[in-house]
Amino acid sequence: MIELALPQHDIGVREVAAFSARASYVLMCLTLCWGVFTATGWVRRLTGHQAIRNGHMMLAVLTLATGSTHAGVFLLLREQGLSLTGIAVPFSGLLRHSFGILGLELMIAITLTVALKRWVNYRRWLRFHQLAYVAVAMIVVHSWFGAIANGHLAVLWLGGVTVLVPAATLTVLRLLPPRWLIRAGLLGAAPAAVPAQRSQQSAIVPPVTVNGTGGPVRVIVDNQRCKRYGICQAESPDLFQLMEDGRLRYIRDPDAGERAGAQAAAMACPMRAIELREVSHR
Ligand code: SF4
Repeated sequence: MIELALPQHDIGVREVAAFSARASYVLMCLTLCWGVFTATGWVRRLTGHQAIRNGHMMLAVLTLATGSTHAGVFLLLREQGLSLTGIAVPFSGLLRHSFGILGLELMIAITLTVALKRWVNYRRWLRFHQLAYVAVAMIVVHSWFGAIANGHLAVLWLGGVTVLVPAATLTVLRLLPPRWLIRAGLLGAAPAAVPAQRSQQSAIVPPVTVNGTGGPVRVIVDNQRCKRYGICQAESPDLFQLMEDGRLRYIRDPDAGERAGAQAAAMACPMRAIELREVSHR
């Protein structure tokens, strides 16, 4: 079999494509990890510091920049290059390319809609934002099949698995119901429900072990602290709801069975705006 050497120009372009693909893959996994850490408050739990939410956005933008570079450089190839349709329209070429195109375009759409968060129904916006998990899965499929096709599997195998495992683990944890995490001890340091007579003086309450068998709690949100991020709603949509006018509506006296959800929301709130008080009788 006769192999034709590629022109130097195309070799350089393909190296840029490979480098930008790897950079985008790593950044994508970091974006996902940081997003889960900020959304759940786990950064604060691990380090005692609040997560910088802008970091998630910055990583996402870098992921898109490197991902778009990876797609765009194929236009520069002199031999076996792709057309604009080939890099922008899914299913116009190879199936593995289609996964990458769909994943990247979905991510771009999700990033653009972040700017609209204030003006759209939060729950709908969150559902759309959570499609990022689907986008990541498609890009992972694209990356692995691309690596196999281009003979780069050895490189992806080492580095790719290393960054993918934490991202996949955090995704699974993020999608589990909060009460499962509480039972597993992963949200065990949620703000405890404090007795009513102590609550006036305790803005920050000591951590407790939650066994899910406690009684009812009263939910109090500090409006001075609450920044309307809506993370409480993501954790416990039955108890917290961000209204279209930006106000936070919440159930002040949830049933005992909703205690775990209230604690998960209080734990996730980055502003520590949610306080829970024990209620002896109702
Ligand atoms: S209570 Fe906390 S999580 Fe809920 S909207 Fe306010 S700041 Fe965000």
